[in-house]
Amino acid sequence: MRMNTDALVLRVKDTGESDRLVTLLTSEFGVLRAFANRAKKINSKMHGATQSLCYSDFSVYKSRDSYIIDDAVAKEVFFELRDDIEKLALAQYFCSLAEELAPEMEPARDFLRVILNSLHLLRTQRRSKDFLKAVTELKFMAFVGFMPDLTVCSRCGNEPDGEMLFNVSEGCLYCQGCGSGEKITPGILAAMRHVCANPVERMYSFSLPENEEKRLAYICEKFLLAQTRRQFKALDFYKSLF
Ligand SMILES: [Zn+2]
Repeated sequence: MRMNTDALVLRVKDTGESDRLVTLLTSEFGVLRAFANRAKKINSKMHGATQSLCYSDFSVYKSRDSYIIDDAVAKEVFFELRDDIEKLALAQYFCSLAEELAPEMEPARDFLRVILNSLHLLRTQRRSKDFLKAVTELKFMAFVGFMPDLTVCSRCGNEPDGEMLFNVSEGCLYCQGCGSGEKITPGILAAMRHVCANPVERMYSFSLPENEEKRLAYICEKFLLAQTRRQFKALDFYKSLF
């Protein structure tokens, strides 16, 4: 069976002398690990298209228990991110989130659209790293079923009024005095609601002052780590740069 799909290369592992094992985030089949034979050779036509942070059209077939890439044509490359260690580290964190959270053998178009948009905005510097990190983390959480409840206080049911608390383990809001959590301003609450409620193409269209972007990034990261109960080496590395 031959499968054709567009995909972002999340990770590349060299195997043998000239082959690669490539982890793809495909739009049609989610996360897929496939071999690209002879792709390490510089004269291979697949050499560029199977490098990490390359978005390509792939043709893949199944042979026994393995998937083999027999053609790859680059559509967009994000290689410039490699020139800036902070951007590269953040891009690699997005890739490891996608690898961990996106489904396998089912469509993952929304994950792919988020990561491609975030990489594009990271490359063009149209949005800060804090902003992009927060938005990507929060939307991925919503995709995998950890949609936070940002409507009313979970204890008394009152509408948010002024500064509220966001409980990262429960994924819900409390007024001060009704429960515990991270303090969030009305601006940060509005931003989180915006990301959760809007489709991918509109979710980036909001702005916050720089200090609130930082706070949003801090809260979304805590939320993601509390909900997934996982550690991400790429995140630890990214944070070690600051
Ligand atoms: Zn309350």
